Amino acid sequence: TEQIVLASRPKGLPVSDDFRMMQVELPVIKPGEILLKGLYYSVDPYMRGRMNDAKSYAPPFEIDKPIYGGVIGKVMESLSEHFRPGDMVVGNFPWQKDFIATEKEARKIDTSLAPPSYYLGVLGMTGLTAYFGLIHIGKPKAGETVVVSGAAGAVGIVVGQIAKIQGCYVVGIAGSDEKVKLLKSEFGFDEAINYKTTPDMNKAIAAACPKGVDIYFDNVGGEISDAVIKNINFHARIPLCGQISLYNTTETPMGPRLQPMLLTRSVLMQGFIVGDFKDRFPEGIKHLAQWVKEGKLKGTETIEHGFQNLPKALLGLFKGDNTGKMIVEA
Ligand code: NDP
Repeated sequence: TEQIVLASRPKGLPVSDDFRMMQVELPVIKPGEILLKGLYYSVDPYMRGRMNDAKSYAPPFEIDKPIYGGVIGKVMESLSEHFRPGDMVVGNFPWQKDFIATEKEARKIDTSLAPPSYYLGVLGMTGLTAYFGLIHIGKPKAGETVVVSGAAGAVGIVVGQIAKIQGCYVVGIAGSDEKVKLLKSEFGFDEAINYKTTPDMNKAIAAACPKGVDIYFDNVGGEISDAVIKNINFHARIPLCGQISLYNTTETPMGPRLQPMLLTRSVLMQGFIVGDFKDRFPEGIKHLAQWVKEGKLKGTETIEHGFQNLPKALLGLFKGDNTGKMIVEA
């Protein structure tokens, strides 16, 4: 079978040569194991961090070893009493077309509730990130103003929709006119701003948020966040979810120092990793699935076709190629 490995550690923005396709032999499956065929593969911004040789909450990928990530697989053979051929599962698996997993590594998914790929997005890791970051850290109240950056991405598009369900006024920041239009017409955002064509973001946010910003769900960091924080309200909350604008920088860029504003406005800023809420995942899944069922929450995705296009899809995240969850269908 084929796998994709990390060929070299990128400096700055990764390139396709940092990955390599390899042929490997599959061992025979042992008791308690299942043989899986990969159907849908998730690409995520955090993978960029794992390509570095740096200690973080997830260990670095190893050179010449496969990249790992969220994968939906179909059981082809089973030596486990918990799985039958044909079952669909999700887990953290290698970028490999066919692979063997232990029964503990795979979780069955309910495909009668939603299409399989939703378990990588709105009903998976990114949906849970949106739910816990907004509900448990942002603590939205009806009538409050929520600003979300990276608004048309997997996490952001769910944050905006959940904020609407909570009765908030929602403003999204995204990187194209098409995305801005879609956020307002399809996903219920009250306002949206294209950061790539807006010369004065501070002014644009002030205009879009006449009552100031009560919650800033930050997916991107950098200058966009500087501009939002200039409009932050007294007792605002800032769930610090991602800093994608900084993931490919080789030096930390300096910006305005906004801490005095956070201080005088009694703002709460809290970083988090979705895994912090592991014990409460069933609560998150229950709410997300319910909203999807009721038609209040749309799971949207950009699907790239072909296993060999995994690296291209991952690099596409840093160019804004996706609307909603970026997924590769093998
Ligand atoms: P997305 O689907 O949002 O994909 C990334 C998007 O980021 C792109 O579509 C692009 O959209 C935008 N982007 C890329 N480069 C920049 C830049 N320099 N400045 C501003 N925007 C940029 O990914 P996810 O939804 O999976 O992740 C969103 C954020 O949340 C990431 O920072 C990620 O690391 C973080 N995250 C954190 C988790 C946690 O546990 N804390 C879990 C999951 C994700 P555009 O066209 O708008 O530029």
